[in-house]
Amino acid sequence: SPLLSIRGLCASVDEKSILHDIDLDVAAGETHVLMGPNGAGKSTLGHLIMGDPVYTQTEGTITFDGEDITDLSPDKRSRAGLFLSFQAPVEIPGVPLSSFLRATIAGRPGLEMRGKEFRRRMKELCAALDMDPAYLNRELGVGFSGGEKKKVEMLQLLLLKPKLAILDETDSGLDVDALGVVSRGIDLYRKSCDGTLIIITHNTRILEHLDVDRVHVMVGGHMVRHDNAELIPWIDENGFESFEQAAAGET
Ligand code: ADP
Ligand code: MG
Ligand code: MG
Repeated sequence: SPLLSIRGLCASVDEKSILHDIDLDVAAGETHVLMGPNGAGKSTLGHLIMGDPVYTQTEGTITFDGEDITDLSPDKRSRAGLFLSFQAPVEIPGVPLSSFLRATIAGRPGLEMRGKEFRRRMKELCAALDMDPAYLNRELGVGFSGGEKKKVEMLQLLLLKPKLAILDETDSGLDVDALGVVSRGIDLYRKSCDGTLIIITHNTRILEHLDVDRVHVMVGGHMVRHDNAELIPWIDENGFESFEQAAAGET
């Protein structure tokens, strides 16, 4: 059975219905890409999988690693091995990035480590990602660019080694440097723990060097297409217009 299985998921926020009858299966070790125009509901689906209380799941089930997690708190889902990027607090003046990262693994069986070991691990990770280790002493989030936040996420990902990582790349442009760190981070995550990924992105450049197993397209809160990696260059060329027209034609 798949690592993640979503059936008939409907969700709303403030009484407004946002996601409609979503089905999604992700097998362990696979890399999936979730695409769709702005406002399609991609980020909302990510938050729903994590149990973000802002959104109300009105129907359907989410099964993860053999367990129905529909009623689990976000913390329990995280401990069960789910990870969503952008969990990093935006700004905490006075707290160095290294302390924040150490706190993310505190109390996690198998992940907690002594200070010396942690520092060695962080050095290793910075080297593997080609990141300046001086960065670890910077205050959390203060003046971080979009690209720098992405680097923090990669460090989090590689420390936590979740069973399933959902990376919401957002629309904000990443510079070449950040793109490199993200690509190396994703690669390392897949190789070091046979990680499973759902990548939400508009940036098909990130996908160029990735072995993508499945592509899912959302429009207007609906899942409108499940396909293989060949759909990515097609979307690059044709955009989402035909999906949007088909979705509009159905309603
Ligand atoms: P995407 O990530 O595909 O761009 P989102 O999931 O961010 O789309 O948004 C899907 C829809 O849900 C949009 O119409 C958006 O305005 C709405 N939405 C998302 N989050 C909220 C929220 N917290 N409050 C109100 N509306 C929301
Ligand atoms: Mg694979
Ligand atoms: Mg989004």
